[in-house]
Amino acid sequence: MDTATDRAIEMFDLPHLGQDPAHTYRLGIMGGTFDPIHNGHLVAAEQAYDDLGLDLVVFMPAGNPAFKQDKRVTSGEDRYAMTLLATSDNPHFTASRFEIDRDGVTYTADTLRLLHGLYPDNVAFFFITGADAIADIVTWRDAGDIARLAHLVAATRPGYDLSYARRVIEGSAYDFDVTYLEVPALAISSTDLRERAELGQSLRYLTPDSVIGYIRKHGLYDVGDAFQAPMQRDRAKMELTSDERD
Ligand code: ATP
Ligand code: MG
Repeated sequence: MDTATDRAIEMFDLPHLGQDPAHTYRLGIMGGTFDPIHNGHLVAAEQAYDDLGLDLVVFMPAGNPAFKQDKRVTSGEDRYAMTLLATSDNPHFTASRFEIDRDGVTYTADTLRLLHGLYPDNVAFFFITGADAIADIVTWRDAGDIARLAHLVAATRPGYDLSYARRVIEGSAYDFDVTYLEVPALAISSTDLRERAELGQSLRYLTPDSVIGYIRKHGLYDVGDAFQAPMQRDRAKMELTSDERD
């Protein structure tokens, strides 16, 4: 049992799956930058778990995302920690270090190839994305390998047209196997959360409280004094006023 493969699976917090050769295991992979993770990601993954009868969904924060090279991205450790916190109370979910622990730019095709090497053939991979990402996937590096190595699950995302995504996929040269999911639409994005944090606005009900706590404690997204409860803000203002009086 204690083979090099098993040790690798443990090192990356990946689940042990595939022991019963008579059974096909269905492993969901939710990839993303998760800067920070939010309820839109969680709802999409939960619905994929239910509708596709998955055994587990692994959330995999991207190491050094290929398409975000020009942007400032929070450290992999922080994004992983928030992903772990957000997924910890759901037995259908787990978080993995598989991509953040790899050096260099992480490409989904490489991740899928490596996963295929780690798991036996009776484990099938379901790569879950939002409608925006599914339309882009045809342009990703080694898109043909992605089509060969995983089933794709495309979730609705407000502002992105699933029928457009469908047309792009159908028009592509590769044989993608895609399941389209209508999930309860949550108009939430990480970009919006980062902006709210910077402006000192509430993140409550947009991402789990544990993630909000982590953002505050670690001062992510320039959360400084502005990110205080209104009462604390008022108190700070009062203190300033009394100091001024002295
Ligand atoms: P950013 O604004 O920084 O791009 P994001 O909110 O798009 O962040 P990502 O980490 O880029 O989050 O997304 C990871 C995956 O989750 C992508 O496949 C994306 O399409 C999907 N996703 C993100 N937000 C939602 C949402 N509100 N509903 C459904 N899917 C979503
Ligand atoms: Mg995005």
